[in-house]
Amino acid sequence: MSDNVCYVDAYARTIEARLRAVEPPAAAGKGALVLLDRTVFYPGGGGQPADRGTLRTSDGRSWQVVAARRQGDEIWHELEAGIDPPAPGEAGGPAGVFTADLDWERRHRLMRTHTALHALCGVVWRDYGALVTGGNMEPGAGRMDFEFERMSGELVGAIESAVNEELLRARDVRVNVLPREEAFAIPDLIRTKIKLLPEGIQEIRTIEIVGLDLQADGGTHVANTREVGTIRVTGYESKGRINKRIRMELVAPDSL
Ligand SMILES: [Zn+2]
Repeated sequence: MSDNVCYVDAYARTIEARLRAVEPPAAAGKGALVLLDRTVFYPGGGGQPADRGTLRTSDGRSWQVVAARRQGDEIWHELEAGIDPPAPGEAGGPAGVFTADLDWERRHRLMRTHTALHALCGVVWRDYGALVTGGNMEPGAGRMDFEFERMSGELVGAIESAVNEELLRARDVRVNVLPREEAFAIPDLIRTKIKLLPEGIQEIRTIEIVGLDLQADGGTHVANTREVGTIRVTGYESKGRINKRIRMELVAPDSL
């Protein structure tokens, strides 16, 4: 199995790796798939889109990576369509090595957005006892769905200021990996639907905004909430009597 660095170090943006396998495009209009022995690319999941970036060799060839995707335990890089991929078994230039680079500006904005959504989730649970049921994001903006009967347009301002207050408290964000039984004993994790994780998963990765929110999560986040800046709640929609959707976006400029 390859070394999937994105789950351990969200700030790793480039890595040198060897080619393990190449698969031809699955269909017309699709790109070839490349597997490296290690990667910094996040394959998408939990509402966070897959990374983009480039793959290059030391002899000057390069490919755009338009997405990454997980198959079993492995993360494959999808190259742009219509371009010849590296040959299977290729050494990757004189140094025998490929360099995989993330589109870091986009990824870092996703990390800030993802962390902001966790802060939103934590605040809505703490102040209103509403459970999150799902979420989605793009760089700089996202939405979360809640079982939140009392949600109304009048609460938008209060939620927005409470989230910004928490972000500005400069809370650390920690990644942990726990044995399944230990994770299932934590009430905060139970409420975020950890139950839905497949039986086979023996270790649970958690993201904790210290003092605010704890979730089972596979995505990438910033290390401290101050790096998010502040957010604006851009809207809310009623998806039924109970289910409400809250939309938000990042306000502060990128802090790369
Ligand atoms: Zn998350």
